[in-house]
Amino acid sequence: MITVLTPDTASHHPPHEFTDGRLVPLYESPLRATLIEAALRHANLGPILMPDQWDDQHIRAVHPPEYLEYLAHAYRRWVAAGGSPEAVLPGTFAVRGMSRRSLTPLAAPGYYSFDLSAPIVAGTYAAARAAADAALTAARHVQAGASAAYALCRPPGHHAGPDLCGGYCFLNNAAIAAEYLRRHCAGRCVAILDIDFHHGNGTQQIFEARDDVLFVSLHADPAEHYPYFSGYADEIGRDVGRGWTHNLVLPAGTDDASYLAALDAALALIGARMPAALIVSLGVDTAADDPVAAMGASFALSAAAFHPIGARIATLGLPTVFVQEGGYAVDALGRNVAAVLTGFASVVQP
Ligand SMILES: [Zn+2]
Repeated sequence: MITVLTPDTASHHPPHEFTDGRLVPLYESPLRATLIEAALRHANLGPILMPDQWDDQHIRAVHPPEYLEYLAHAYRRWVAAGGSPEAVLPGTFAVRGMSRRSLTPLAAPGYYSFDLSAPIVAGTYAAARAAADAALTAARHVQAGASAAYALCRPPGHHAGPDLCGGYCFLNNAAIAAEYLRRHCAGRCVAILDIDFHHGNGTQQIFEARDDVLFVSLHADPAEHYPYFSGYADEIGRDVGRGWTHNLVLPAGTDDASYLAALDAALALIGARMPAALIVSLGVDTAADDPVAAMGASFALSAAAFHPIGARIATLGLPTVFVQEGGYAVDALGRNVAAVLTGFASVVQP
């Protein structure tokens, strides 16, 4: 299987985030990519490539130009206006009841963010852009005939909406890859399977009114877990997209057997639509020992669950792009990602 990765993602290294009222070191650290890369090299999955550089038009297919302009310049403007040079983190958000859109340097972060887990530093946009390039490069290899490719995206993407960052995410890499593949599949739909522990609220927001991108997400109950305000089973898409969003909500303590049964149900939903290609938002924070998932009550997936997860996804027989999302248990992170990809490759020789 082709792996696409880039050292440029290391330029995103904020010192901290706010989580449940505590200022803590950022869980979504550059070390994550280092550990995943080491595990993939050890697993000897196939060629490891650098991404090509892609034109902004492919990013603008998902995110409006003004949001990209904000991300590119937010840090410099924030610091020049007196914001902390440690990181851009808003103190005031543009929530219901407010009357104006203000984009002054100290206000814009509160307009374009929905939480305090997406701090911006000088190298954030370059890293996010490199991650999107990795996703696009993986998608192009699959579009050109590879049966699967994996993009080691960091920062991750599935919480990022069209013009909202949050949950460690700035650009929605899976959505960008999906949009690229949809434009190259002669009118057929594409599918996104999100297996991160948390609901992919950004991806849902991007595609919920569309009938050409199927979104199926398997995640912890948002009544108990981030992102709290999105991801419930009754969210099924809207307008022409009604029936094109599926949220399969799983309880705390979900074990290997019940998770795999739910995954089979998700795969059946995807297979029924006969998509031209599949994008997998690959989070491994479903592992029992994940420290971010454990901020509520985590799943109980053992290390043995990840190989069959990959193998079962492969049974769809679809050209597949894996895009890295969450996973923060650093001791197991690389091993679990490699297990999913190895499981996939045990069924389909990429
Ligand atoms: Zn997650």
